[in-house]
Amino acid sequence: MANAPFVPPGSGWPGDPATPGTPVAHDAAEVIELAAKSPGLDELCARQSVCRACDRLVEWRERVAVERRRAFADEEYWGRPIPGWGAAEPRVMIVGLAPAAHGGNRTGRIFTGDRSGDWLFASLHRVGLAALPTSVHAADGQRLIDTRVAAAVRCAPPDNKPTPLERTTCLPWLAREVAEVAPSVRCVVCLGGFAWQAVWPALRQAGYGLPRPRPRFGHGAEVELAPPSSVPRRDPVLLLGCYHPSQQNTFTGRVTEEMLDAVLTRARDYA
Ligand code: SF4
Repeated sequence: MANAPFVPPGSGWPGDPATPGTPVAHDAAEVIELAAKSPGLDELCARQSVCRACDRLVEWRERVAVERRRAFADEEYWGRPIPGWGAAEPRVMIVGLAPAAHGGNRTGRIFTGDRSGDWLFASLHRVGLAALPTSVHAADGQRLIDTRVAAAVRCAPPDNKPTPLERTTCLPWLAREVAEVAPSVRCVVCLGGFAWQAVWPALRQAGYGLPRPRPRFGHGAEVELAPPSSVPRRDPVLLLGCYHPSQQNTFTGRVTEEMLDAVLTRARDYA
């Protein structure tokens, strides 16, 4: 049987939030409209997971799903955008840049099935924010505890580099997700400098009060944000910077287990 470019919505993939009837965004204007009019978090994630607004990324994610890496040649690839995942009312929100071609794009779950995710989930487990130390496939029983993870760009990009236009096109999905979970979120953790840049406009659109100028990204950088006026609780929300646990960073020792644990422990304790 020929490899399929993507898993059909609602066809039984574990955790698939969509159905065959989930509306599909085909361009930037439709992303704005479908994100704004989504009736809630579950439907928002369903709509994220079937989006086709960026031609280059749709072509890439589906080509990767058809060609596959030799190590995963027998596996079906998800081949769709990766929706936000985790607690519906999280206290900690973690934001990365984009899924990996043979990680999230294969397994359908954020940070799942790649080396960066191995580091992240091991750390989340050590500090008590994930039920298991690994996250390998969508039916592995992993569960986040009071925590949610989302990407600023939902589709795997070539060379892990989305274009500025792709970031802008995908922004409404993140902005609406950030707004949906704002009533419970106490801490936002950005994995890497690109996520730090990308989350800023999403926080602004969600109604957070942001300092000017924008503070520099760094490992352990902390910024206090005023919550959106729609949130009754008025104490500040903490924005935290964390180096990305990419292979390059972990191989070179720029990021260690202790460094990841320190930031996530700070997030847990603040939240
Ligand atoms: S990157 Fe975002 S906006 Fe672009 S196709 Fe994927 S989900 Fe849609």
